[in-house]
Amino acid sequence: MYQLNDNYLKLPGSYLFSGIAKKVAAYQAEHPEKQIIRLGIGDVTQPLCPAVIDALHAAVDEMAKAETFHGYAPDLGYEFLRNAMAENDYKARGCQIAPDEIFISDGAKSDSANIQEIFDAGSRIAVCDPVYPVYVDSNVMAGRTGSYDEKTGIWSNVIYMPCTAENDFAPELPKETPDLIYLCFPNNPTGAAVKKDQLQMWVDYANKVNAVIIYDAAYEAYITQEDIPHSIYECEGARTCAIELRSFSKNAGFTGVRLGATVIPHDLKCKAACNGEKDVELHRLWARRHGTKYNGAPYIVQRAGEACYSPEGKAQIKEQVGNYMKNAAYILNGLGGAGYTVSGGKNSPYVWMKTPGEMTSWEFFDYLLDRANVVGTPGSGFGPSGEHYFRLTAFGSFENTVAAVDRIKAL
Ligand code: PLP
Repeated sequence: MYQLNDNYLKLPGSYLFSGIAKKVAAYQAEHPEKQIIRLGIGDVTQPLCPAVIDALHAAVDEMAKAETFHGYAPDLGYEFLRNAMAENDYKARGCQIAPDEIFISDGAKSDSANIQEIFDAGSRIAVCDPVYPVYVDSNVMAGRTGSYDEKTGIWSNVIYMPCTAENDFAPELPKETPDLIYLCFPNNPTGAAVKKDQLQMWVDYANKVNAVIIYDAAYEAYITQEDIPHSIYECEGARTCAIELRSFSKNAGFTGVRLGATVIPHDLKCKAACNGEKDVELHRLWARRHGTKYNGAPYIVQRAGEACYSPEGKAQIKEQVGNYMKNAAYILNGLGGAGYTVSGGKNSPYVWMKTPGEMTSWEFFDYLLDRANVVGTPGSGFGPSGEHYFRLTAFGSFENTVAAVDRIKAL
């Protein structure tokens, strides 16, 4: 008789956003007349910019002719896109990343969930608390996280790094030594960003204790301050300890188009017993994994990604991000002015809000849905330290953002 991977059964409840969607659907069914404003899930709302649309159309036309048709993409992705990323995301920022160290993918969610596969089953992970749930859940599925305590929301074999108001939502070095460290800045859900010297501290630490940092840079396009790094490779020594995840979802609105990349420098190596304790490049393992389990992002989508780096594409994307940041500023100033404790929103599309009084995150979710018809995301869904917090996103339209903030202020 077949058996299930019972690690899946250890996962508590449903995925956070499915839970929210169910609650909102039930409320809407009961109150069909209410106009609900969704500032919950981190999905974009602006259409793809003209430069991207033009590139998509042109690539679709290429697919219609035998001479320009494209089948399977190369394993690592098309060179035109990897070159554009190496040039614009890295060289232009003084980072040494070669095009062949960039693996094109269908987005940062799958890469952040799958990257753990190339590490030993006994690896200890360290995560920020609160955290983007995918990092933890993918390790639960792989059987790496121990047992779950429903009362505390804590896995016995995960090192949690609390990000609280006391440390300005920036994690401190853990007391126990991890093998894999997941970091995401600008952060989802807190909206916090770290300065270069803070990130350098992590790079130095990882090199010292022989850990790998999995650095999620999905929100780098939202950075507005000068001294905040856009890539971990801006830090000295990152090539020997860091993997970086990139996404086209939040900077260019590709959430429904799907495009991302994982960067693994050739200098990132590990001594392997099965290789006579000689160094093995992590790049080699991910290349093997990519080749075996993935057949590449579509040609037309990779052409669309390339268009993000044209002068027109860059200008249009900058304007879109600017629009979202106008929303973030409105939420931050509006709720801050009304006496709520709010942070984030300056280098990130997320505003992290303290729930009023002693309300739990879910109590505030229900209260806001019922009284203001506004949907946000309960902070506790991202980890125990997210309790008594609430995440609002700047991805709505300006009109909806203004209406939502006004409704919350009027409560
Ligand atoms: N990483 C973080 C931190 C995110 O918040 C998200 C989406 O919300 C993703 C990755 C997913 O990115 P993608 O759409 O590229 O899969």
